[in-house]
Amino acid sequence: MTSLAQLLQSEPTFFIVLCGIIGLMVGSFLNVVIHRLPKMMEIEWQAQCAELNGQTPKDTPRYNLLAPRSACPHCGHLISAAENIPILSYLLLRGKCKDCRAAISARYPVVEGVCGLLSAYAAWHFGFGLAAFAALLLVWALLALTCIDFDTQLLPDDITLPLLWLGLLFNLSGTFVDLYSAVLGVVVGYLTLWSIYWLFKLTTGKEGMGFGDFKLLAAIGAWLGWQMLPLVILLSSLVGAVVGLTLIVALKHGRNIPIPFGPYLAGGGLIALFWGQALTQSYLQLLAAP
Ligand SMILES: [Zn+2]
Repeated sequence: MTSLAQLLQSEPTFFIVLCGIIGLMVGSFLNVVIHRLPKMMEIEWQAQCAELNGQTPKDTPRYNLLAPRSACPHCGHLISAAENIPILSYLLLRGKCKDCRAAISARYPVVEGVCGLLSAYAAWHFGFGLAAFAALLLVWALLALTCIDFDTQLLPDDITLPLLWLGLLFNLSGTFVDLYSAVLGVVVGYLTLWSIYWLFKLTTGKEGMGFGDFKLLAAIGAWLGWQMLPLVILLSSLVGAVVGLTLIVALKHGRNIPIPFGPYLAGGGLIALFWGQALTQSYLQLLAAP
């Protein structure tokens, strides 16, 4: 065990490649999470509603992240381990189901590839150690949240809340920031979006974002500290405005169709994780310059 740690420390390239490969495999698992977690939540809500109405909940077949096995949505063909190799299988199958030749969504290999690249980058950026390990978890969670919010406009508590606790735990030993900044980050992160939400709701009568967004920014505050939050909000608003305007203009995307804010928050959090320190420093230098 010690020798493995020594090897990873002395051979950065080996560590980066290893994290990249692990990232590809985790990306494959994230595809399952992205697809199934919203459905699992829906099944749970229906069971709770039934219970509330005094009905006995229906016996539904087991549905979680592990069961049933992944199958082609068109023909039910069970996906074997050989057809489940990140990116490679998609390329070898030329993006089609082995049995019925129905097209497989290109999003699966894209999520795997992005996850692999970001994981390798996190390994390179932080080097072997606790910060890299923690950063991998944050990257994976943000990636899953981005896709789920994009698909369903939901940010599941099952991801945002554990992410918040984890951020505080890692910062017990000051992995990214001191615990003081992390705790304040949670409170300030939640309250900032909560206030904007109520201001927006009281003035326009519309809901601009959801409670999941508050929890996500609170979680980002737990990881990166309150000092990073202005940058995260600025970055996510900038990207959100650009993408939102593009959608409205180019695709005639209705102005009233909700555009999820979570993906931009997650993107802002990711940028702040890797380049936040450098960005704030150059910003402060700009301010200090005569
Ligand atoms: Zn098929």
